[in-house]
Amino acid sequence: MQQPSPTSIDRTAKLSRARVAKREQCADDLFKLWLEPEVPFPAFKPGQYCTIGVNGIERAYSISSSPDEKWLELFVELVSEGELTPLLWKLAIDETVSIRPRAKGVFVLSPKFQSHFMVSTVTGVVPFVSILRDYFHKGETGHKFYVIEGASYPGEFGYDDELARMAADHPDTVKFVATVSRPTEEKSKDWTGETGRANTVVGKYLKEFNVDPANTLIYACGHPGMIEDVGVVAKEKGFAFTEERFWV
Ligand SMILES: Cc1cc2nc3c(=O)[nH]c(=O)nc-3n(C[C@H](O)[C@H](O)[C@H](O)COP(=O)(O)OP(=O)(O)OC[C@H]3O[C@@H](n4cnc5c(N)ncnc54)[C@H](O)[C@@H]3O)c2cc1C
Repeated sequence: MQQPSPTSIDRTAKLSRARVAKREQCADDLFKLWLEPEVPFPAFKPGQYCTIGVNGIERAYSISSSPDEKWLELFVELVSEGELTPLLWKLAIDETVSIRPRAKGVFVLSPKFQSHFMVSTVTGVVPFVSILRDYFHKGETGHKFYVIEGASYPGEFGYDDELARMAADHPDTVKFVATVSRPTEEKSKDWTGETGRANTVVGKYLKEFNVDPANTLIYACGHPGMIEDVGVVAKEKGFAFTEERFWV
């Protein structure tokens, strides 16, 4: 099992700086940052993370951009009692953060599997966005992707329009399901899609999409409870399983 630990924060590569090139608030506590590293960021594998910091406080963030993009795109949840995210939240365009100039991590596409069933909650979708952007940028074919994205409210998805577009453009390659766990609340009033927590709909869509344990890897990233539950389902049904925990 991959657990977040101090070793998730890469303190070995020399510190450099990156400029905030763009920022976008997505919900009350969610924002995207686009960073332009001062020195070219070395090639990374989609699904990996970078380590950024402010005032010496450093944390790991998965990269949602694909390696061909000019800026590193991040999708960050504001943890109001946290040390770093309140500082990131206040950053203005052209301010800078520290950055360890290399990406790390092993939560990447495993191409030996023909089919990839990716389950996420909120910011946990980030590695899958990078993997899929890169897949289509390179014009690759032959794999199948099933992406289940869960959130409390529709405003927290961050990448649902992009993923829905990928599924519409590549219907034989991508299936996408966004699911809202608090459908009766005001913030979800216009939601007409799937409802329920991501982990509770996994069984339904494994069946509906006829996903074969013999050639499928299930990935889970996001809420620790979701990861636990999906891991249990994967084991019960005989699927290979991999996870990335952002917190415990
Ligand atoms: C490999 C890896 C990739 C990551 N990628 C992302 C990413 O793409 N986007 C992102 O927003 N975060 C990501 N994180 C989490 C990130 O590194 C920080 O832990 C997080 O932003 C909180 O930092 P902080 O300094 O504000 O809070 P801290 O002071 O570090 O933490 C305060 C408390 O909040 C908990 N916590 C941390 N994150 C959350 C959360 N999202 N929801 C609820 N509680 C939380 C911590 O466990 C701790 O108990 C990743 C972590 C790892 C290990």
